[in-house]
Amino acid sequence: MESKRRTINAPSCFYPYPFPPYPFPLYPFPIALEHFPFIPFPVSVPASRGGIGASKLRMRTRFNRRAIFIFVIVAATGAALFAASCGNKRASRKGIPAAVAVAPAKRELTPLPVRPLSPALEGLRQRVLAAVAATRELPWQHDAGMSELSGWEYGTRTKELADTLAGDELRALSRLAVAGGLLPEGTDLAMLAASFTAASAGAAYSPLDKRVLILAAQGADAPARDESLITHEYVHALQDQHFDLLKLLAARPYNFDRAEAAFAVVEGDAMNVQRRREQTVAVWSRRTLEEIGRNEDARFGDYRREVGAFFPTLLTETFIFRYRDGTRFVEAVRRKSGAGGVNELFRRPPASSEQILHPEKYFAQEQPGEVALDERQFAANDWTTAATTPLGELGVRGLLLKSLPAADATRAAAGWGGDRAYLFERARSAPLFVWKTRWDKPVDAAEFFRAYNALCGKTGARRDGANDPAQLTWRDGARVTFVRLDGDQVIVIRGAEADARGALEFALR
Ligand SMILES: [Zn+2]
Repeated sequence: MESKRRTINAPSCFYPYPFPPYPFPLYPFPIALEHFPFIPFPVSVPASRGGIGASKLRMRTRFNRRAIFIFVIVAATGAALFAASCGNKRASRKGIPAAVAVAPAKRELTPLPVRPLSPALEGLRQRVLAAVAATRELPWQHDAGMSELSGWEYGTRTKELADTLAGDELRALSRLAVAGGLLPEGTDLAMLAASFTAASAGAAYSPLDKRVLILAAQGADAPARDESLITHEYVHALQDQHFDLLKLLAARPYNFDRAEAAFAVVEGDAMNVQRRREQTVAVWSRRTLEEIGRNEDARFGDYRREVGAFFPTLLTETFIFRYRDGTRFVEAVRRKSGAGGVNELFRRPPASSEQILHPEKYFAQEQPGEVALDERQFAANDWTTAATTPLGELGVRGLLLKSLPAADATRAAAGWGGDRAYLFERARSAPLFVWKTRWDKPVDAAEFFRAYNALCGKTGARRDGANDPAQLTWRDGARVTFVRLDGDQVIVIRGAEADARGALEFALR
């Protein structure tokens, strides 16, 4: 089964962004295609079911239909998470961000329809339950149900979940990324999340319902049930019973870098079980960690060219990171300390994407550096902190991949030592983006400085004539971007020129 797959078969269960893979054209949601600022793509739309998206966009449908994925459910969770911190006004003090207790707005969810599974599906569910517990070496604490939903029900439910979990905060996150030039103008992650979740297909584990949701087979063309996909989802159910996924993924204050590291554990663990079931333990055990990483990466080859190409690399690469690097990381931990070590990952999750990318840093407990601006200086000038988060080594790499070869982007990001991005807003002023990054050594900072300027040079911004080797100025429209090298730090600021100059002074203090 595995060998037939042409592309990733990772169900993207937990996924904060409305980015691929999404088989949205399965459902004729009114909010579907026309309203997407990005073209979504159905990585896995069965050819016979191509909907509006397929016909309009000539989307490829050659991916294995069973490789459908996505999940959204928590997708939205992630989105909300990401967002949660972003929308909150933070205390204006230097150093540790204010802790914020953020709970998703409580809404009544439509009860899931109660209908029995077919004997075949129930049989498959029972087999998967037993296999997951045995392979993961954890017992079920109680039964974990499954609901088979029609397309409309599934879409409605996932849309409800998105509405419940995302919202204003997600829009704040969009504003941060757009203000920094990190995502295209007009990106609205909240809208994407809602559309995306509504249109997602396949199967998902819902931590709100404590059940696996699966899209009903349709007619004679119904795809055979994908045991791998269901196995993957039931690993999430088992994780949730033992480790409380919502608590893990909703840690506050929100931190993109840390949240993505947690997602990588959650997805890496599920992939690990899925792969060991598919490949047999004997085959899997012979693979080196490098091989495992390469194999997972290879699954994304088509995806990058055909689907991921529609999305900003930051989003595409973040998505791939969870599965590829998560799988390798979890296996590194499992080989070192067994299933108990994997359990420990949920109790003491990695602190950064850097630890996922370099497992030895997790073993050494190398913590990311805390980087912060003195927000009081901004507040004294009537700026409000509208959003803030570290982007991490993952975020740096995802951004640089937009215009640098993979090896260069990876190398430039590798000396990351800590960072924090801010969006400041003020009445009648353009948004102000400030990103402070710290590097292990000045030479690493200089490398990132060069790489970031190369990125600016390829995004259409015009370089200002001023020739300061430690500070480049880029202009696009009414915005100016300063990129400043200062010892082991690089500071990036984007906004109206006068505001950006003031912000640079504050950031350098
Ligand atoms: Zn998953």
